Amino acid sequence: MNSKDLSRRDTMKMLGLGGSAGLLGLFSGPAAAQAREAQGTPSYARAMKPVKITKVRAIATAPQGSNLIVVKVETSEPGLYGLGCATFTQRAEVVLVAINTYLNEFCVGKDVDNIEDMWHGAYVSSYWRNGPVLNNALSGLDQALWDIKGKRAGMPLYQLLGGKVRFAIPCYTHANGNSPEAVVDSVKSIQERGFKFIRIQQGGYGAVGSTAQQPDFKAANFGGPTDNYMNENVYLKAIPELFAAVRKACGEEVELLHDIHERVQPMNAINMIKKLEEYRPFFIEDPFSPENMKWFKQLRMNTSVPIAMGELFNNINEFVEPMVNLWFDFIRIHVSQIGGVTPAMKVARLGEWFNIKTAWHGPGDVSPVGHSAHAHMDLAIWNFGIQEAVQFNDKMLEVFSGCPTMKNGYMSVNEVPGIGVDINEKEAAKYPISTKSNWQVRKFDGTLIRP
Ligand code: MG
Repeated sequence: MNSKDLSRRDTMKMLGLGGSAGLLGLFSGPAAAQAREAQGTPSYARAMKPVKITKVRAIATAPQGSNLIVVKVETSEPGLYGLGCATFTQRAEVVLVAINTYLNEFCVGKDVDNIEDMWHGAYVSSYWRNGPVLNNALSGLDQALWDIKGKRAGMPLYQLLGGKVRFAIPCYTHANGNSPEAVVDSVKSIQERGFKFIRIQQGGYGAVGSTAQQPDFKAANFGGPTDNYMNENVYLKAIPELFAAVRKACGEEVELLHDIHERVQPMNAINMIKKLEEYRPFFIEDPFSPENMKWFKQLRMNTSVPIAMGELFNNINEFVEPMVNLWFDFIRIHVSQIGGVTPAMKVARLGEWFNIKTAWHGPGDVSPVGHSAHAHMDLAIWNFGIQEAVQFNDKMLEVFSGCPTMKNGYMSVNEVPGIGVDINEKEAAKYPISTKSNWQVRKFDGTLIRP
């Protein structure tokens, strides 16, 4: 027997066909697949049979207060479905229509395996893109398809993204209080829980309402009764003092973060960040509203404090210019807003070439499915920076199983194939979503402030 015969015999054996190949006259199709199986082809060498999408639908629930939207992609394979996070908490009802009507029609009958093709197809199917409603719907679909791919492969999502580059995910959590002393106490108690990274805020969300002053617009009965007031000067003075107090009381080792929440004038933000340099922040987040991106050049010329940005960007293309110009250090993507795992991983990989790290936005208005998707990506991205921690209440854990867990400041995921989180739809239905939200923040005279 010559080497050519041997090679042919080995090839036939590897394909599991042997002498039957000639009889079948085929190398593909159901008969050949049956023959391969019968002759002992190992499962890893068998091609996956095609699976079609039979339905795409949204599940709305609010077990922890925030509106959450989860996409469920059902398939032609009995029992096989995928879940993805499509949460746009402020306009949740509109996302339901985008999913139940438009995405369902777009997806039914398509192959579940072709994620990249389906992402691009859905992205341009409305002709106009960039809208948060459609992007959130698309994110839910994208994550659900990755969930299905993981289930089909028998692997957790992080394996499909390249495997682990760290044993678990370092996280930051939030310290808050109405005075520097209260924030110091909060930081110390969080340190005792094992956290090495802590975001410090004073006076509630974004320092809104940080003073007891009654603004003139309230006295004049201007705006809505629940509109918030922000005194920019009080905020700008308070934050450097807060950093000084926390550094003094809690030492040099703890990494401190702060979110400006975009709400101050660009030059004021730059001046305040300069004052924070001596306290070595890990990063300062959202210095400018998206309309003020041109101020980044000025910011970078004036201070070396690391900056995190991007949670309000609608489209991955918005990341390119700031990243190639090194305007920020941490990619603050809201993964459901940007369209899911597929585009988020592209931006993360782009960051690797510029030493820009990831810091996915992980607030309460992301479902456990979304948080788990974050964590799977965090495990697999070399240029990971930090992850925003999350804490689920009991109701949330009754609705969602397999949620990411926190220990000593690290987040971990289970080893279940796919994203690893499931939903109990009966429990979810107990917590209906609401259309009420008020994000209005005003200056003393009633002028609205842009987030
Ligand atoms: Mg932010």
